[in-house]
Amino acid sequence: MFSARNGSGIFRAVRLPHCKSRSVSRASPNLTFVPACLPPDPAEVEELQRFVSNSKRLFVMTGAGISTESGIPDYRSEGVGLYARTDRRPIQHAEFVRSASARQRYWARNFVGWPQFSSHQPNKAHLVLRDWEKLGKLHWLVTQNVDALHAKAGSQRMTELHGCIHRVFCLACGDRILRSELQEHFEALNPTWKAEAFGVAPDGDVFLTDEQVRNFRVPACRKCGGILKPDVTFFGDTVSQEKVSFVHQRLAESDSMLIAGSSMQVYSGYRFALAAREKKLPIAVLNIGPTRLDHFASLKLNSRCGELLPLIVCT
Ligand SMILES: [Zn+2]
Repeated sequence: MFSARNGSGIFRAVRLPHCKSRSVSRASPNLTFVPACLPPDPAEVEELQRFVSNSKRLFVMTGAGISTESGIPDYRSEGVGLYARTDRRPIQHAEFVRSASARQRYWARNFVGWPQFSSHQPNKAHLVLRDWEKLGKLHWLVTQNVDALHAKAGSQRMTELHGCIHRVFCLACGDRILRSELQEHFEALNPTWKAEAFGVAPDGDVFLTDEQVRNFRVPACRKCGGILKPDVTFFGDTVSQEKVSFVHQRLAESDSMLIAGSSMQVYSGYRFALAAREKKLPIAVLNIGPTRLDHFASLKLNSRCGELLPLIVCT
């Protein structure tokens, strides 16, 4: 399912990790899952400022990197992402649909992780993008994240490309409920079931053994008895053509593209970067580490979203 495109390579503000004038830090506990990096340097701030000032209708796409500063780990960051730290991989769509035991395992782990996962709050980067929308700078925001942090920040001109873990729907009849409501059903069905939560993933998943999962009971759809699934595009599934077309339309109305906190490895997001390159839009990439569009981005910045974006003056 997942994945992008580019511009002319004018600026490349890639800074060297051994620069001695600024120290690498991971000060707050919330930054546990943020890759180490240097604070923004003035040249980088100036370049992004110029990019944003020149834009009148900015199209922004965000990924897991914008939420790591809210305490949510990503999958791919070097050293701190789940792929690097663990052997955990996200559930596949076909496995979820096909296997009752896979669903039982998914929901048991999701049930345990929910109280912590649902408590995460937007950080400065989410708030800046919300403000840019209010100021008329941001034309449309597309996020690949399912954590609802942009919605919690108050963004409205936004598409959640891969859905949102806070919503659940029935695969048979389409009935929708809030994930928080489902938590109550889980508790009612499993009054004595207990398991420890640790290491919550970007989709609310946690580690549990098969032994712990075995007795967990999963509710069916209240209307038809069908299978309940998070309103999230799992790996192996595709984003609906209607949603893809809608995002392409918003991109066509925009005059520049900013990628924030994504390596754009997943095609469902990457295709919009490719479309922006075809339209010859300027593209700025703000991400710690390499991305799939570094070779065609107009500007590449290696900073934390929550540190660099608040330094940009939006008028
Ligand atoms: Zn149903």
